[in-house]
Amino acid sequence: LVDVTSVAKRFGAHEVIKDVSFEVGKGTVTVVIGPSGSGKTTLLRGLNALELPDSGEVRIGDIDVDFGRIHPGRGGRLAKPDRELVRRYRAQSGMVFQSHNLFPHRTALQNVTEGPILVQHRPAAEADDQARKLLEKVGLTGHVDKYPYQLSGGQQQRVGIARALALEPELLLLDEPTSALDPELVGGVLAVIRDLAQEGRTMVIVTHEIRFARQVADQVLFIDEGLVVERGTPEQVLEHPTKERTRTFLQRLL
Ligand code: ATP
Repeated sequence: LVDVTSVAKRFGAHEVIKDVSFEVGKGTVTVVIGPSGSGKTTLLRGLNALELPDSGEVRIGDIDVDFGRIHPGRGGRLAKPDRELVRRYRAQSGMVFQSHNLFPHRTALQNVTEGPILVQHRPAAEADDQARKLLEKVGLTGHVDKYPYQLSGGQQQRVGIARALALEPELLLLDEPTSALDPELVGGVLAVIRDLAQEGRTMVIVTHEIRFARQVADQVLFIDEGLVVERGTPEQVLEHPTKERTRTFLQRLL
């Protein structure tokens, strides 16, 4: 479903992503691990075009973008055809952020329906119906009319997942979805993600939860200093890493 080829991204003189390539099969889960500052978030943001890579190519479904030819002009704006291409590329994926950035003055339900209604121009009743089903799926029946401040961090994060799913993306991107949560709330969020994996959702997840990675990942990428140091099955990368850097990183987590 996804082909990432030689993607690179720098901020000023700092080359954050150097030359990253990997594939993601449809219906599979890729877990990205690596030290703080290694470029994991930047990579995920590139897959969602929140940050445009400087070079390299990414295909998601039937949308293929050669970032080497897409550069903002004066004022940071893209030429119109490129803007349209990037818009379609972005619509292929949905993003769940580290800390649930919900709209504070909207209920759980409204947070989920906002995208479908405003971005996809779907009828309100249909969006409402779908949102209720999604909120039920993430275990929030009975909380649909609550505002974010009335929900626990774990519940807010599950609203964030429902909100990403509401736009029906081919690919779901999750950036450390549990790292901002109190320990007792982590399990509920991981359970929802595990269900999505079982349903055959294609996901790329940045996480430090190694046990969870072992359970859900089809593929694990270990990233360090903007490079994929090691890539393989959880068994290969987590149990039998071949690179010293991977071993050191995993030992520190245990
Ligand atoms: P963490 O696990 O701590 O979230 P990470 O692996 O996700 O780290 P990134 O967030 O991708 O790492 O950041 C990689 C590097 O890029 C960091 O040194 C960060 O300071 C830098 N960086 C990220 N975004 C920007 C930006 N918009 N402008 C300048 N530097 C940035």
